[in-house]
Amino acid sequence: MSFPWLREPWMRMVNSAKQRGLSHAYYMRHAPDRGSEQFLVTLANYLLCSKPTNSACGQCKSCLLFKAGNHPDYWPVDGTDASSIGIDQMRQIQQKLTQTANQGGARVVVIRPAEKLTEQAANAILKVLEEPPEEMFWLLAVEQPEHLLPTLRSRMQWINLNLPDVANNSEQDEQAASLLRTLMGEALPPVMKKKEEGLEWLNISEKLLLDVAKSKHHIASQTYNFPALAEQYRQLHQQRRVSVQMLNQAVADSRQLRQKYQYSKGLNLSLLLSFYWQQWAIHVFESNPDTGF
Ligand SMILES: [Zn+2]
Repeated sequence: MSFPWLREPWMRMVNSAKQRGLSHAYYMRHAPDRGSEQFLVTLANYLLCSKPTNSACGQCKSCLLFKAGNHPDYWPVDGTDASSIGIDQMRQIQQKLTQTANQGGARVVVIRPAEKLTEQAANAILKVLEEPPEEMFWLLAVEQPEHLLPTLRSRMQWINLNLPDVANNSEQDEQAASLLRTLMGEALPPVMKKKEEGLEWLNISEKLLLDVAKSKHHIASQTYNFPALAEQYRQLHQQRRVSVQMLNQAVADSRQLRQKYQYSKGLNLSLLLSFYWQQWAIHVFESNPDTGF
């Protein structure tokens, strides 16, 4: 894949497939300029391939049909130029579901941008997902995940594409600044309202700790060049407990947390992350024996 940030989410899917741990339905961010479209299509091809390895084989009958653009078990719905994606299109899919897969393998539906689904159409999908047919996959790409019906989201797995931010980085800068306050023991950990926020915060956390380590070496190439952070970095360095070694360890711990999360389902990442940050803060600002705080 020509988008380096997609490699990691891609291998996550491949590993799930190898462990027969795939879900029936996934949703991800719709950002064609940053590779979401390529990810969707490559994933659909992979799921349909009869001899996949770390990618689709490109040679089986299924792959050839896919390449030719007429795989009978691949049902893409592109609502980019439509005002909505309605119930009629979902009914057509439901109709096809009553028949067996033409090629005897998987069947894949791709819908984007999924916020264009009417409520009726979303409910039709929900109904299918209540009793998902074997070897049937739904892949939805959505610009704003919160615009997707919550009941529908709860039946689907989120794929974090690790998309880089475009141009405006300030929201992440703010997030990094608030996290740094947590790490300095000055604020409670950020509240994560949605499950898909966990990995985003883990990314911020990792980059931030690397930045703190870099700034200790006076290396300028940092992810967060937010002026408000410079002063906090300086304060953090003044803490006698914060050594470069410790910062590197923290980054390593964070990477370990990411691995653990990737390979075990049902792990509450938000909770683990909050715990990890709190432990960090406690370690750095261990209580003063005089005051007990
Ligand atoms: Zn193939």
